Amino acid sequence: MDNILNFTLEELQNWMKDNNESAFRAKQVVSWIYKEIWDFNLMKNIPGELKEKLSKSFYIGIPKVIEKFESKIDGTKKLLLGFKDGNLIETVIMKYKHGNSICISTQVGCRMGCKFCASTIEGRVRNLTAGEILSQILVAQKLIGERISNVVLMGSGEPLDNYDDVLKFLELVNAEYGLNIGQRHITLSTCGIVPKIYDLADKGLSITLAISLHAFSDEKRKEIMPIANKYSIKEILDACKYYIEKTKRRITFEYSLVKDVNDSIEDAKSLGKLLSGLLCHVNLIPVNEIKENSFKRSSEKTINNFENTLKNLGVEVTVRREMGSDINAACGQLRRSYIELSSNN
Ligand code: SAH
Repeated sequence: MDNILNFTLEELQNWMKDNNESAFRAKQVVSWIYKEIWDFNLMKNIPGELKEKLSKSFYIGIPKVIEKFESKIDGTKKLLLGFKDGNLIETVIMKYKHGNSICISTQVGCRMGCKFCASTIEGRVRNLTAGEILSQILVAQKLIGERISNVVLMGSGEPLDNYDDVLKFLELVNAEYGLNIGQRHITLSTCGIVPKIYDLADKGLSITLAISLHAFSDEKRKEIMPIANKYSIKEILDACKYYIEKTKRRITFEYSLVKDVNDSIEDAKSLGKLLSGLLCHVNLIPVNEIKENSFKRSSEKTINNFENTLKNLGVEVTVRREMGSDINAACGQLRRSYIELSSNN
């Protein structure tokens, strides 16, 4: 059985034709799904015989909400979602003045091995399909009863390590018959898989590309990100320049500040030099401390100094506002604590 959420309208129209049904039925089925009717039997204008055929060939792959946490500080909601095969992922919904944002996962686990990250500790279990990536938004919208207008691919997983499904997801989420979320409202975050950055640039999409840089030199980067052994910062920046040329979009560089690892004034100066003249923006993320490692958050003073040093060098910079700090909203933490708890019982 296939997850119907993996299908574009056109693919579903073809399925209808192949199954001796009129193509217009595809649009009807899809409309029900986006109206949050997730049972073929409840789709009123679909004839009984077709309902039966659909139920034999497809399931509507909406994950179960296993747990839900809500921050008392800022209303951020964190969901632990379970798929049919028992795999768990996390999704975070954040409310801003300009609308609702969602941070979604692209893989169960991750194989990139970044030292500070909780999602990668036990490696990658499997990729999520395009429909599973999309389903996180569907289930979140139903839960909050409001539209989600911004999407960041910054949950568990490395989007460019699941390139084909992520691209198909981008098509589905953007489709007029579907959620119709504009590409400019979507950010894809990557640790820097260089060949895929070129591929993505060639697609000419207007999504925002965010690069997890976290260090100004290859030597330092290798200490915290194994991917740095494969691609140098120079190769990443060349790929970014190509991306900017092709898409005219500003790149975001994420830089997690870790006490005594990458947060000195010298680090800031070198980073500023490295990025000067590039159409970009730096997002400083005070590291979320997790129990599996000893990385510590930089002090407020250090964070301010780092930010100001970059500003003085003419680099656009912001410090990421921490959301949901009372509910372990940082990626990977909830799934891990849930799995640990279940295995202790
Ligand atoms: N794999 C992608 C997207 C997922 S991680 C990537 O690497 O970009 C999203 C962002 O959170 C990345 O910048 C990642 O480096 C950062 N991150 C992961 N764990 C963190 C932690 N404990 N504290 C702060 N940032 C973290």
